Amino acid sequence: MIDLRSDTVSRPSAAMRQAMADAEVGDDVWGDDPTVAELERVTAELLGKDAAVFVPSGTQSNLCALMAHCQRGDEYIVGDNAHTYRYEAGGGAVLGSIQPQPVPILPDGRLDLDRVQAVIKPADHHFADSRLLCLENTHDGKVLPLDHQLEAAALAEANGLALHLDGARMWNAAVALGVAPREVAGPFDTVSVCLSKGLGAPVGSVLVGSAHLIERARKWRKMLGGGMRQSGVLAAAGLHAIEHNIERLADDHANAARLVDGLGRLDGVEVVGHATNMAFVRFPDGIGLARAVADDGLLIAEGRPVTRFVTHLDVSADDIETTIEIVAKHLAG
Ligand SMILES: *Cc1c(COP(=O)(O)O)cnc(C)c1O
Repeated sequence: MIDLRSDTVSRPSAAMRQAMADAEVGDDVWGDDPTVAELERVTAELLGKDAAVFVPSGTQSNLCALMAHCQRGDEYIVGDNAHTYRYEAGGGAVLGSIQPQPVPILPDGRLDLDRVQAVIKPADHHFADSRLLCLENTHDGKVLPLDHQLEAAALAEANGLALHLDGARMWNAAVALGVAPREVAGPFDTVSVCLSKGLGAPVGSVLVGSAHLIERARKWRKMLGGGMRQSGVLAAAGLHAIEHNIERLADDHANAARLVDGLGRLDGVEVVGHATNMAFVRFPDGIGLARAVADDGLLIAEGRPVTRFVTHLDVSADDIETTIEIVAKHLAG
């Protein structure tokens, strides 16, 4: 099967599984797991922060960050199509009693910072207390320009807001920009990164920030049920992913470019956009096509109406050629 539905579908390689099997472990809730401690140390250093906490998912990582920054009755400002606002089941509001204030995301993935400024609430008992600004990088594969991040940080600082990055795919941003991950992470008080997407680990995210914020996040992780025991077997996969699978993201970006190039040549196909490891394409019948190509061993998301393709480490350049052939066959038929 060629599976282009998401980069979350990748499976741990034999070498990664070996690293998991060999991991030294202990009870991490007691602070006894050396492999988890190593993953937290390595990730914090890579992202230029003082501390880190390993969590089961990106959703929990973002929620721990929201709750570390905000109290009940505070507010966070966030893109209206950002994962943290839209795809995390409203956890900030439900479990953190934190009010979201969405603002539109611009077509290139940035926030309109004038709009952000305009929604920051004055200190007045009518209003929630604006406390935190959240960015997402990459968003739909789009890389935030570093100067946009710096402008957002200046705005946050001028208004007494903390700044969080949902950096589920910030590794892709760093590779696309040709900078070290710590440069992308630099302006933020906290950054959440996923190990289980483009980096190919089976499970896990890491939240990084100051020692104080991460200590608070660690307590929320426990309350949210994310305290894990011999989780060094999972952390070993994360360490393997960080060591071996960051630079190769450039291959995924090249494959996504190859894919839109090939699909764009087919009759009736409209390429809507493409950035880093994602491509967005409109087919005459995206739902029918997804069902038809599955019989040929190609898994793609149903286009409603646009089909999102995501490349990852289990998809080769040859698989991209095969994908284009299978799609061409079904469009012609
Ligand atoms: C996948 C994703 C998350 C959440 O990660 P899970 O591990 O699936 O909970 C957060 N933000 C973005 C941008 C994502 O793509």
